Amino acid sequence: MEPAPYAEALEALCRPLAFAAADDFARLERVRSLERTVHQAAQRLLSLAVPEDIKQLVAKVAPAFQEPLAGDARRQAVAQALRTLEPLREPGLPDRLIARSVSCLPGVGPRRAEKLARRGLGTVVDLLFQLPARYDDRRCLTPLGKLEVGSRATFVGEVLVAGFTPLRGRRQRLFQAVVGDGSGTVKLKWFRGGEAVESTVRKGARLRVTDEVRRYRFDKEITHPEIDRLEAGDDPRKNAAPLAPVYAAVEGFPPRTFRRLVAAAVAQYADLVASALPARLAAQRGLPPTPEALRQIHSPGEDADLETLEKRRSPAHERLVLEELYLLELGLGLRRAECAGQPGLAVGRGGERLARARRALPFQLTAAQERAFGEICRDLAEPHPMSRLLQGDVGSGKTVVAALAAVSLAESGYQTALMAPTELLAEQHARTLRALLAGDAGMRLGLLTASTPDAAAVHSALAGGEIDLVVGTHALVQADVHFARLGLVVIDEQHRFGVRQRAALAAKAPPSRVPHTLVMTATPIPRSLALTLYGDLDLSVIDALPPGRRPARTLLLREGEGPRVVELLRETLARGEQAYVVYPLVEASEKLDLRAATESARSIQAAFPETRVELVHGRMDAAQRATAMECFERGEAGILVSTSVIEVGVDIPNATLMVVEHAERFGLAQLHQLRGRVGRGRAVGTCVLVARGGTEDSEARLRAMLESTDGFVIADADLRIRGPGEFLGTKQHGRLPDLRFADLIRDARLVALARSTAQETLRSTSRLARAPALARAVKLRWGDRLTLVGVA
Ligand code: ADP
Ligand code: MG
Repeated sequence: MEPAPYAEALEALCRPLAFAAADDFARLERVRSLERTVHQAAQRLLSLAVPEDIKQLVAKVAPAFQEPLAGDARRQAVAQALRTLEPLREPGLPDRLIARSVSCLPGVGPRRAEKLARRGLGTVVDLLFQLPARYDDRRCLTPLGKLEVGSRATFVGEVLVAGFTPLRGRRQRLFQAVVGDGSGTVKLKWFRGGEAVESTVRKGARLRVTDEVRRYRFDKEITHPEIDRLEAGDDPRKNAAPLAPVYAAVEGFPPRTFRRLVAAAVAQYADLVASALPARLAAQRGLPPTPEALRQIHSPGEDADLETLEKRRSPAHERLVLEELYLLELGLGLRRAECAGQPGLAVGRGGERLARARRALPFQLTAAQERAFGEICRDLAEPHPMSRLLQGDVGSGKTVVAALAAVSLAESGYQTALMAPTELLAEQHARTLRALLAGDAGMRLGLLTASTPDAAAVHSALAGGEIDLVVGTHALVQADVHFARLGLVVIDEQHRFGVRQRAALAAKAPPSRVPHTLVMTATPIPRSLALTLYGDLDLSVIDALPPGRRPARTLLLREGEGPRVVELLRETLARGEQAYVVYPLVEASEKLDLRAATESARSIQAAFPETRVELVHGRMDAAQRATAMECFERGEAGILVSTSVIEVGVDIPNATLMVVEHAERFGLAQLHQLRGRVGRGRAVGTCVLVARGGTEDSEARLRAMLESTDGFVIADADLRIRGPGEFLGTKQHGRLPDLRFADLIRDARLVALARSTAQETLRSTSRLARAPALARAVKLRWGDRLTLVGVA
């Protein structure tokens, strides 16, 4: 943390005064050159970008210290100064000052303040951090003869003629002038306000003009241009605003007015802003303090680099980005520490049962799985709850890792609950886990969804501790579900659940024994996003697929290429392999979508009379659905037609063809998930995307699918196409705290840096207990938005 220039100067002013006054003025006469020190400190404060009312108080203090004082006069001056400055020393005052309404700025009345507030610019600090969209480069002057119609330019010319002309049928008069520089001329027009510029725009005056040049009949002209008058000796290249910032337009504010407003905010308030980043890091990276960064951004100097400014890559921009990410990671770190400090249950390192379960697996864990499992076991052994995200591409084998964790828990006498977003997924998980844990590990499994026929029996088995691992849906968080000894909560496909549901499940254990939480996501989230979105979770990544997997082949077919699909289906069946045909289903057009899937199942059946075709969708009852799925799993059905419900969780190695109908309607993550369903066995999988129309975005998604099979590349593309807010559909959960400056793609490296720096700070300040100003800054920036992000 670097204090604001204001705080620093105030401290320099008050410290000697307070020292002189301490212990009933005991040291009053011993302070040398007190007057000079105080006077200089006051002058420094008066030179800063702080509000007028603050300066007025300081200005009252300064004169008394112009001359050396002694005795009573000194004592009185010191006492008086301290009294006057008292209100300025209140902690948190700078924050309140910059949070003032914009109406404290010159020229902003209630109407304008209202307009600004509607744009989220209601306070001074909002204006300070409103970044320019671009800049007008006034450093290079265009000869008038080279002015291009339709583009902005800066030029210098002499006024050749100027004057008012009446406008026909109107009360106002038009003020116009012709300026020239020997290479050409241009006409300037003022339909209103001519009186105000009349004295500046005089015949013979030299003007510097910036604006967009238009054509009117045969002339080049500019209406209401931005002008400066140059005096005789002025160098036209010297400019008060060599790079003039251009901000997003705000209704009721001509660009120039808005620019002046921001400039006023910077000139009167910038030095109240503290810099949160550790000084050492800022120095290492050559970052200016925040007030200086604001000045560089809002009024860049003569030598500024236009390109880095406009790309928002200047050191000043990096300061704002890092600052923002650092405060965010501090907040997230605090939350994580809070959760990790809760009492949990230490689970013993697995013993005989775990060893048996591992031996019974039909394969060996990959190195990546071993690493993730090791990380999980280490957390489980702690007497505090684990909060871990297990991230891995589709098919990377997360389920088995969770299953082994459940065995560890059971071995220590605790229960595990696995929550899936849909009934179908829960059913599939239950089947998979049953198969994986079929050995003699002695795991007692249960399934609980809204369709479970004997829910009461499952309830009592859970309460009686007769189930070690229960798989289910939201049904698990119902009030009448009780666990004997819940120890681990596993959430699959986390982003479909609100944070509250995660918490509701964890709350099924007594608060003295908060269960461990493992969140599994098959959606490969870019690391930068994972660190931010799930900043409250530790991260384990399974970054390799089981051996022998080969990426699926991807084909894109358009409307009218239906015969090709039939051909591919035929080839697949002929090899004795199976195929999926998936239809999109969205709530808005649910009936239509369902009809499309049903009709398709019928027509496919007609085309392949020898083959059994099964249909599954979310509207079927659980028993019917289970029958259909099992039939496909056992290989009795050759083709499974479904709505997007099979998106996650289906695991049938013999299925090698995935046909996605209306691929343009699926999200990129979904498409990637679907493709991950094939090619799980020895044969190479094929994924056919059938696009029937679409938009620019949907074309971009399909292209990304053709270009890569790497989940992380796909996720990055998704993030780029959709923007982070919508990515994972998190907006509505409030999970992504809105970042103003950081771009999670562009600034990925800075996210990691901010996170490690924040961790270091939290360690060295006992979680900000010893950094109250920083704690205030975190709270001020993120406030209660962070509580939404946390586990609890
Ligand atoms: P996901 O991470 O998508 O949930 P799953 O856990 O469903 O992946 O695993 C995908 C498939 O890979 C399953 O058939 C599983 O049995 C198999 N699998 C998992 N781990 C391994 C491994 N180490 N070696 C071979 N196959 C594995
Ligand atoms: Mg899975």
